[in-house]
Amino acid sequence: MFRGEEVLAAVLENEDTKNHAKVTDRRELGKMFDGFSLNKKRPCECAHGQTAELRTAESIIQVSLCGHCFDILDEGSVEHYRMPKAFFEEFERRLPSE
Ligand SMILES: [Zn+2]
Repeated sequence: MFRGEEVLAAVLENEDTKNHAKVTDRRELGKMFDGFSLNKKRPCECAHGQTAELRTAESIIQVSLCGHCFDILDEGSVEHYRMPKAFFEEFERRLPSE
């Protein structure tokens, strides 16, 4: 599992609005990832139109997300976590839903 402070770049995409953003500024990343932790949860049935690609020095983490899910896609399998509040607030601030 990656740690928040390892993220060097976050590429955010909202498939519904076709908007995307790339965050590489350390301070901006800090707003998303300071104190970041993930807690497992059961899968939801909700449809996700938002994604994030989190790049660390070692790996690229693909995330499918909504307001309450942070699902990490890993070679065909999915790990389901609760959406960390600060991360989603920063996502929505950049790429507001319609
Ligand atoms: Zn969801």
